[in-house]
Amino acid sequence: MLAFWIRADLDEAAFRGDELTAFGQAALQVFEKEKLLKRGEDLQMVECGDCSNPHIEDVDIINDSPNVVPRAYIPCGAGRVSVDLVRLQVWAIDFDRLADLASSALGLSGRIAQVATDRVWLLGTAKFADRTRDVFLVRGIRWPDGPLLLAGNARLSTSPCPLILCMNRVPDDAVWQDGERVVLSLSEIDWLEGDRSTLIKTIADILREHPRAPEQTEQRIFRKEGDYWSIRFECKTIRLKDGKGTQYLSYLLNEEGRDFSATDLIQAVSGNLQVTVRSSAGEVLDDQAMSEYRARAESLQAEIAEARKFNDTGRVERLQDELESLAGQITSATGLGGRRRSVGDSLDRARKAVSMAIVRTIAQIKNADPALGRHLDKHVARGAFLSYRGDGIPWNS
Ligand SMILES: [Zn+2]
Repeated sequence: MLAFWIRADLDEAAFRGDELTAFGQAALQVFEKEKLLKRGEDLQMVECGDCSNPHIEDVDIINDSPNVVPRAYIPCGAGRVSVDLVRLQVWAIDFDRLADLASSALGLSGRIAQVATDRVWLLGTAKFADRTRDVFLVRGIRWPDGPLLLAGNARLSTSPCPLILCMNRVPDDAVWQDGERVVLSLSEIDWLEGDRSTLIKTIADILREHPRAPEQTEQRIFRKEGDYWSIRFECKTIRLKDGKGTQYLSYLLNEEGRDFSATDLIQAVSGNLQVTVRSSAGEVLDDQAMSEYRARAESLQAEIAEARKFNDTGRVERLQDELESLAGQITSATGLGGRRRSVGDSLDRARKAVSMAIVRTIAQIKNADPALGRHLDKHVARGAFLSYRGDGIPWNS
Protein backbone atom coordinates (compact mmCIF):
# COMPACT_ATOMS: atom_id res chain seq x y z
CA MET A 1 0.00 0.00 0.00
CA LEU A 2 2.97 2.33 0.48
CA ALA A 3 3.19 2.59 -3.31
CA PHE A 4 -0.29 4.07 -3.28
CA TRP A 5 0.64 6.81 -0.79
CA ILE A 6 3.90 7.62 -2.55
CA ARG A 7 2.03 8.05 -5.81
CA ALA A 8 -0.69 10.09 -4.10
CA ASP A 9 1.96 12.65 -3.19
CA LEU A 10 3.28 12.95 -6.73
CA ASP A 11 2.10 15.60 -9.14
CA GLU A 12 0.77 12.91 -11.44
CA ALA A 13 -1.12 10.85 -8.90
CA ALA A 14 -2.04 8.07 -11.31
CA PHE A 15 -1.14 4.47 -12.14
CA ARG A 16 -0.75 2.68 -15.42
CA GLY A 17 -3.14 -0.24 -15.72
CA ASP A 18 -0.35 -2.79 -15.58
CA GLU A 19 1.15 -1.19 -12.48
CA LEU A 20 -2.02 -1.95 -10.56
CA THR A 21 -1.44 -5.69 -10.76
CA ALA A 22 1.50 -5.19 -8.40
CA PHE A 23 -0.97 -4.37 -5.65
CA GLY A 24 -2.33 -7.32 -3.78
CA GLN A 25 -5.84 -8.58 -4.26
CA ALA A 26 -7.05 -6.95 -1.04
CA ALA A 27 -5.86 -3.53 -2.14
CA LEU A 28 -7.35 -3.91 -5.58
CA GLN A 29 -10.68 -4.80 -4.04
CA VAL A 30 -10.57 -1.66 -1.91
CA PHE A 31 -9.72 0.47 -4.96
CA GLU A 32 -12.64 -0.98 -6.84
CA LYS A 33 -15.20 -1.06 -4.06
CA GLU A 34 -14.45 2.49 -2.93
CA LYS A 35 -13.94 3.85 -6.45
CA LEU A 36 -10.64 5.30 -5.27
CA LEU A 37 -9.25 5.27 -8.78
CA LYS A 38 -10.89 6.86 -11.77
CA ARG A 39 -10.07 6.03 -15.32
CA GLY A 40 -8.30 8.80 -17.22
CA GLU A 41 -7.50 9.21 -20.87
CA ASP A 42 -5.40 6.39 -22.31
CA LEU A 43 -1.71 6.92 -22.91
CA GLN A 44 -0.72 7.71 -26.47
CA MET A 45 2.94 6.99 -25.91
CA VAL A 46 4.46 4.13 -24.03
CA GLU A 47 7.86 2.68 -23.24
CA CYS A 48 8.88 -0.42 -25.10
CA GLY A 49 8.94 -3.39 -22.79
CA ASP A 50 10.24 -5.79 -25.34
CA CYS A 51 13.86 -4.99 -25.90
CA SER A 52 16.85 -4.08 -23.77
CA ASN A 53 17.09 -0.64 -25.32
CA PRO A 54 14.58 1.61 -23.57
CA HIS A 55 12.65 3.80 -25.95
CA ILE A 56 9.29 5.52 -25.84
CA GLU A 57 7.09 5.40 -28.90
CA ASP A 58 3.72 6.60 -30.18
CA VAL A 59 1.12 3.90 -29.93
CA ASP A 60 -0.62 2.76 -33.02
CA ILE A 61 -4.05 1.39 -32.28
CA ILE A 62 -5.66 -0.95 -34.74
CA ASN A 63 -9.37 -0.98 -34.34
CA ASP A 64 -10.81 -2.21 -37.60
CA SER A 65 -13.98 -3.88 -36.50
CA PRO A 66 -16.37 -3.37 -33.58
CA ASN A 67 -16.42 -7.17 -33.12
CA VAL A 68 -12.69 -7.52 -32.66
CA VAL A 69 -10.72 -6.37 -29.63
CA PRO A 70 -8.46 -3.50 -30.68
CA ARG A 71 -4.75 -4.18 -30.80
CA ALA A 72 -1.91 -1.76 -30.07
CA TYR A 73 1.60 -1.67 -31.47
CA ILE A 74 4.71 0.42 -31.16
CA PRO A 75 7.68 0.45 -33.50
CA CYS A 76 10.74 -1.36 -32.22
CA GLY A 77 13.91 -1.71 -34.28
CA ALA A 78 12.96 -2.57 -37.81
CA GLY A 79 9.55 -3.98 -36.93
CA ARG A 80 6.86 -3.45 -34.38
CA VAL A 81 5.87 -5.04 -31.08
CA SER A 82 2.44 -5.48 -29.65
CA VAL A 83 1.49 -3.59 -26.51
CA ASP A 84 -0.94 -4.89 -23.94
CA LEU A 85 -3.88 -2.47 -23.83
CA VAL A 86 -3.79 -2.54 -20.01
CA ARG A 87 -0.45 -0.73 -20.23
CA LEU A 88 -2.20 2.21 -21.86
CA GLN A 89 -4.83 2.59 -19.18
CA VAL A 90 -4.48 5.49 -16.78
CA TRP A 91 -6.03 5.27 -13.34
CA ALA A 92 -5.90 8.50 -11.35
CA ILE A 93 -6.36 8.67 -7.59
CA ASP A 94 -9.68 10.28 -6.77
CA PHE A 95 -8.83 12.56 -3.87
CA ASP A 96 -12.41 13.53 -3.20
CA ARG A 97 -13.17 9.87 -2.56
CA LEU A 98 -10.07 9.56 -0.40
CA ALA A 99 -11.26 12.58 1.59
CA ASP A 100 -14.66 10.89 2.01
CA LEU A 101 -13.09 7.67 3.24
CA ALA A 102 -10.75 9.37 5.70
CA SER A 103 -13.60 11.51 6.98
CA SER A 104 -15.90 8.56 7.58
CA ALA A 105 -13.09 6.49 9.10
CA LEU A 106 -12.61 9.33 11.58
CA GLY A 107 -16.32 9.51 12.29
CA LEU A 108 -16.54 13.11 11.09
CA SER A 109 -19.87 14.37 9.96
CA GLY A 110 -20.81 17.29 7.79
CA ARG A 111 -19.69 18.34 4.37
CA ILE A 112 -16.13 18.11 3.21
CA ALA A 113 -14.79 21.36 1.80
CA GLN A 114 -11.99 21.57 -0.71
CA VAL A 115 -10.21 24.67 0.57
CA ALA A 116 -7.35 24.62 -1.97
CA THR A 117 -7.98 23.03 -5.34
CA ASP A 118 -6.59 19.49 -5.52
CA ARG A 119 -4.40 20.17 -2.49
CA VAL A 120 -6.30 20.82 0.74
CA TRP A 121 -9.56 19.37 2.02
CA LEU A 122 -11.22 20.27 5.29
CA LEU A 123 -12.69 16.97 6.43
CA GLY A 124 -14.47 18.27 9.51
CA THR A 125 -13.96 18.94 13.17
CA ALA A 126 -13.67 16.47 15.99
CA LYS A 127 -12.46 16.09 19.52
CA PHE A 128 -9.22 14.15 19.94
CA ALA A 129 -7.73 13.69 23.37
CA ASP A 130 -9.66 16.60 24.87
CA ARG A 131 -8.85 19.01 22.07
CA THR A 132 -11.26 20.02 19.37
CA ARG A 133 -9.41 20.04 16.08
CA ASP A 134 -10.11 20.83 12.45
CA VAL A 135 -9.00 17.88 10.36
CA PHE A 136 -7.38 18.62 7.02
CA LEU A 137 -6.18 16.37 4.25
CA VAL A 138 -3.20 17.83 2.39
CA ARG A 139 -1.61 16.56 -0.77
CA GLY A 140 1.89 17.53 -1.84
CA ILE A 141 2.74 18.80 1.63
CA ARG A 142 6.47 18.41 0.89
CA TRP A 143 6.32 20.09 -2.49
CA PRO A 144 8.43 23.25 -2.67
CA ASP A 145 5.30 25.40 -2.43
CA GLY A 146 4.18 23.66 0.79
CA PRO A 147 4.88 26.57 3.18
CA LEU A 148 3.28 28.94 0.68
CA LEU A 149 0.24 26.72 0.46
CA LEU A 150 -0.11 26.93 4.22
CA ALA A 151 0.46 30.68 4.47
CA GLY A 152 -1.83 31.41 1.54
CA ASN A 153 -4.76 29.43 2.84
CA ALA A 154 -6.55 31.32 5.59
CA ARG A 155 -8.75 28.40 6.58
CA LEU A 156 -5.72 26.19 7.13
CA SER A 157 -3.29 28.75 8.53
CA THR A 158 -5.69 30.26 11.07
CA SER A 159 -7.06 26.99 12.39
CA PRO A 160 -5.80 27.02 15.98
CA CYS A 161 -4.90 23.36 16.47
CA PRO A 162 -5.45 21.50 13.23
CA LEU A 163 -4.80 17.83 12.65
CA ILE A 164 -3.23 17.68 9.20
CA LEU A 165 -3.21 14.36 7.41
CA CYS A 166 -0.68 14.06 4.63
CA MET A 167 -0.20 11.27 2.12
CA ASN A 168 3.29 10.05 2.69
CA ARG A 169 6.23 11.65 4.46
CA VAL A 170 5.60 14.45 6.93
CA PRO A 171 7.25 17.76 6.02
CA ASP A 172 10.51 18.95 7.59
CA ASP A 173 9.68 22.64 7.35
CA ALA A 174 9.06 23.96 10.86
CA VAL A 175 5.99 25.98 9.87
CA TRP A 176 4.01 22.77 9.80
CA GLN A 177 4.80 22.19 13.47
CA ASP A 178 4.07 25.74 14.61
CA GLY A 179 1.74 26.22 17.53
CA GLU A 180 -0.66 23.38 17.93
CA ARG A 181 -0.44 21.94 14.43
CA VAL A 182 -0.03 18.21 14.21
CA VAL A 183 0.87 16.52 10.93
CA LEU A 184 0.39 12.79 10.56
CA SER A 185 0.99 10.56 7.60
CA LEU A 186 -1.84 8.38 6.32
CA SER A 187 0.73 5.99 4.89
CA GLU A 188 1.96 5.06 8.36
CA ILE A 189 -1.41 3.82 9.50
CA ASP A 190 -2.72 0.62 8.02
CA TRP A 191 -6.34 1.64 7.71
CA LEU A 192 -7.40 1.66 4.08
CA GLU A 193 -7.28 -2.08 3.53
CA GLY A 194 -8.10 -3.37 6.98
CA ASP A 195 -10.28 -2.16 9.78
CA ARG A 196 -11.04 1.51 9.12
CA SER A 197 -11.55 2.24 12.79
CA THR A 198 -7.81 1.73 13.35
CA LEU A 199 -7.35 5.18 11.85
CA ILE A 200 -9.24 6.97 14.58
CA LYS A 201 -7.71 4.76 17.30
CA THR A 202 -4.16 5.28 16.11
CA ILE A 203 -4.59 9.01 15.69
CA ALA A 204 -6.19 9.39 19.10
CA ASP A 205 -3.27 7.47 20.63
CA ILE A 206 -0.68 9.59 18.86
CA LEU A 207 -2.41 12.82 19.86
CA ARG A 208 -2.70 11.71 23.46
CA GLU A 209 1.09 11.25 23.53
CA HIS A 210 1.70 14.39 21.54
CA PRO A 211 3.81 16.84 23.52
CA ARG A 212 1.83 19.88 24.50
CA ALA A 213 3.28 23.33 24.81
CA PRO A 214 1.50 24.29 28.03
CA GLU A 215 1.91 28.04 27.67
CA GLN A 216 0.25 27.81 24.30
CA THR A 217 -2.32 25.12 24.77
CA GLU A 218 -3.61 26.30 28.08
CA GLN A 219 -3.18 30.01 27.68
CA ARG A 220 -6.41 31.83 28.25
CA ILE A 221 -6.73 35.39 27.18
CA PHE A 222 -9.34 38.05 27.83
CA ARG A 223 -7.76 41.16 26.40
CA LYS A 224 -9.02 44.51 25.19
CA GLU A 225 -7.70 45.53 21.79
CA GLY A 226 -9.19 48.83 20.68
CA ASP A 227 -12.97 48.54 20.50
CA TYR A 228 -12.84 44.75 20.69
CA TRP A 229 -11.91 42.06 23.11
CA SER A 230 -9.72 39.17 22.06
CA ILE A 231 -10.80 36.10 23.95
CA ARG A 232 -8.89 32.84 23.76
CA PHE A 233 -10.04 29.64 25.37
CA GLU A 234 -8.99 26.06 24.63
CA CYS A 235 -7.26 26.85 21.38
CA LYS A 236 -10.01 28.99 20.02
CA THR A 237 -9.89 32.77 19.73
CA ILE A 238 -12.96 34.92 19.31
CA ARG A 239 -13.46 38.66 19.16
CA LEU A 240 -16.24 40.54 20.89
CA LYS A 241 -17.22 44.18 20.73
CA ASP A 242 -16.44 46.16 23.84
CA GLY A 243 -19.30 46.74 26.27
CA LYS A 244 -20.04 46.88 29.96
CA GLY A 245 -20.58 43.13 30.08
CA THR A 246 -17.11 42.32 28.70
CA GLN A 247 -15.60 44.83 31.12
CA TYR A 248 -17.29 43.26 34.13
CA LEU A 249 -16.30 39.79 33.01
CA SER A 250 -12.72 40.83 32.43
CA TYR A 251 -12.59 42.24 35.94
CA LEU A 252 -14.00 39.07 37.47
CA LEU A 253 -11.63 36.82 35.51
CA ASN A 254 -8.63 38.87 36.60
CA GLU A 255 -9.68 38.74 40.22
CA GLU A 256 -10.45 35.06 40.31
CA GLY A 257 -11.95 33.86 43.59
CA ARG A 258 -12.93 37.30 44.88
CA ASP A 259 -16.53 38.37 45.55
CA PHE A 260 -17.75 41.71 44.33
CA SER A 261 -20.97 43.57 44.85
CA ALA A 262 -22.57 45.00 41.74
CA THR A 263 -21.56 48.49 42.79
CA ASP A 264 -17.96 47.39 43.30
CA LEU A 265 -17.94 46.23 39.71
CA ILE A 266 -19.65 49.29 38.35
CA GLN A 267 -17.12 51.48 40.07
CA ALA A 268 -14.22 49.30 39.10
CA VAL A 269 -14.93 49.46 35.40
CA SER A 270 -16.06 53.07 35.22
CA GLY A 271 -13.27 54.49 37.36
CA ASN A 272 -14.00 56.17 40.65
CA LEU A 273 -15.71 59.29 39.35
CA GLN A 274 -18.96 58.48 41.06
CA VAL A 275 -17.41 58.05 44.46
CA THR A 276 -16.85 61.79 44.68
CA VAL A 277 -20.53 62.39 45.40
CA ARG A 278 -20.06 60.61 48.69
CA SER A 279 -18.60 62.67 51.46
CA SER A 280 -15.71 61.46 53.55
CA ALA A 281 -18.03 60.87 56.49
CA GLY A 282 -20.19 58.66 54.31
CA GLU A 283 -23.03 61.14 54.43
CA VAL A 284 -25.73 60.69 51.92
CA LEU A 285 -26.65 63.05 49.14
CA ASP A 286 -29.15 65.73 49.95
CA ASP A 287 -32.74 65.13 49.05
CA GLN A 288 -32.59 67.52 46.12
CA ALA A 289 -29.71 65.63 44.42
CA MET A 290 -31.23 62.30 45.28
CA SER A 291 -34.57 63.09 43.69
CA GLU A 292 -32.82 64.43 40.58
CA TYR A 293 -30.92 61.19 40.28
CA ARG A 294 -34.06 59.18 40.72
CA ALA A 295 -35.93 61.25 38.15
CA ARG A 296 -33.11 60.75 35.66
CA ALA A 297 -33.17 57.03 36.34
CA GLU A 298 -36.89 56.88 35.68
CA SER A 299 -36.63 58.82 32.46
CA LEU A 300 -33.76 56.55 31.37
CA GLN A 301 -35.93 53.52 31.96
CA ALA A 302 -38.68 55.05 29.85
CA GLU A 303 -36.17 55.83 27.09
CA ILE A 304 -34.85 52.26 27.22
CA ALA A 305 -38.38 50.90 26.87
CA GLU A 306 -38.91 53.13 23.87
CA ALA A 307 -35.60 52.17 22.22
CA ARG A 308 -36.47 48.49 22.76
CA LYS A 309 -39.78 49.04 21.00
CA PHE A 310 -37.88 50.32 17.96
CA ASN A 311 -35.28 47.57 18.20
CA ASP A 312 -32.55 50.17 18.51
CA THR A 313 -30.07 47.89 20.28
CA GLY A 314 -27.23 50.42 20.09
CA ARG A 315 -29.30 53.01 21.92
CA VAL A 316 -30.56 50.46 24.43
CA GLU A 317 -27.00 49.55 25.32
CA ARG A 318 -25.92 53.19 25.66
CA LEU A 319 -28.87 53.99 27.89
CA GLN A 320 -28.32 50.89 29.98
CA ASP A 321 -24.71 51.86 30.47
CA GLU A 322 -25.84 55.25 31.70
CA LEU A 323 -28.43 53.69 33.97
CA GLU A 324 -25.84 51.35 35.44
CA SER A 325 -23.47 54.15 36.20
CA LEU A 326 -26.30 56.20 37.68
CA ALA A 327 -27.25 53.27 39.87
CA GLY A 328 -23.63 53.18 40.94
CA GLN A 329 -23.75 56.83 41.87
CA ILE A 330 -26.90 56.41 43.89
CA THR A 331 -25.64 53.40 45.81
CA SER A 332 -22.24 54.87 46.48
CA ALA A 333 -23.89 58.07 47.64
CA THR A 334 -26.17 56.29 50.04
CA GLY A 335 -23.66 53.71 51.18
CA LEU A 336 -24.23 50.15 52.17
CA GLY A 337 -25.65 51.14 55.58
CA GLY A 338 -28.73 52.33 53.79
CA ARG A 339 -30.46 54.97 55.78
CA ARG A 340 -32.64 55.78 52.79
CA ARG A 341 -35.38 53.56 51.52
CA SER A 342 -34.03 53.88 47.99
CA VAL A 343 -30.77 52.19 48.88
CA GLY A 344 -32.15 48.69 48.74
CA ASP A 345 -33.85 49.48 45.43
CA SER A 346 -30.75 51.00 43.94
CA LEU A 347 -28.58 48.14 45.05
CA ASP A 348 -31.03 45.73 43.60
CA ARG A 349 -31.19 47.72 40.39
CA ALA A 350 -27.41 47.82 40.15
CA ARG A 351 -27.21 44.09 40.75
CA LYS A 352 -29.78 43.42 38.07
CA ALA A 353 -28.09 45.73 35.59
CA VAL A 354 -24.66 44.18 36.11
CA SER A 355 -26.05 40.68 36.08
CA MET A 356 -28.00 41.37 32.88
CA ALA A 357 -24.94 42.82 31.17
CA ILE A 358 -22.92 39.73 32.10
CA VAL A 359 -25.68 37.36 31.02
CA ARG A 360 -25.96 39.15 27.66
CA THR A 361 -22.22 38.94 27.13
CA ILE A 362 -22.04 35.27 28.05
CA ALA A 363 -24.84 34.63 25.55
CA GLN A 364 -22.81 36.40 22.84
CA ILE A 365 -19.74 34.38 23.80
CA LYS A 366 -21.77 31.18 23.70
CA ASN A 367 -22.72 31.96 20.13
CA ALA A 368 -19.13 32.35 19.05
CA ASP A 369 -17.58 29.71 21.29
CA PRO A 370 -20.04 27.33 22.98
CA ALA A 371 -17.33 25.70 25.11
CA LEU A 372 -16.32 29.02 26.65
CA GLY A 373 -19.97 29.98 27.09
CA ARG A 374 -20.52 26.83 29.13
CA HIS A 375 -17.36 27.44 31.13
CA LEU A 376 -18.47 30.95 32.09
CA ASP A 377 -22.03 29.86 32.83
CA LYS A 378 -20.66 27.33 35.24
CA HIS A 379 -17.97 29.41 36.93
CA VAL A 380 -19.33 32.95 37.07
CA ALA A 381 -21.58 33.44 40.10
CA ARG A 382 -24.25 36.06 39.59
CA GLY A 383 -26.11 36.17 42.89
CA ALA A 384 -25.92 38.80 45.60
CA PHE A 385 -22.21 38.82 44.91
CA LEU A 386 -20.46 38.33 41.64
CA SER A 387 -17.37 36.22 41.26
CA TYR A 388 -15.41 33.93 39.02
CA ARG A 389 -14.15 30.69 40.50
CA GLY A 390 -12.60 28.76 37.65
CA ASP A 391 -10.70 25.54 37.29
CA GLY A 392 -7.32 26.89 38.30
CA ILE A 393 -6.07 27.87 34.84
CA PRO A 394 -5.45 31.62 34.94
CA TRP A 395 -6.62 34.20 32.44
CA ASN A 396 -4.26 36.70 30.92
CA SER A 397 -5.27 40.21 30.08
ZN1 LIG B 1 11.92 -1.90 -28.32
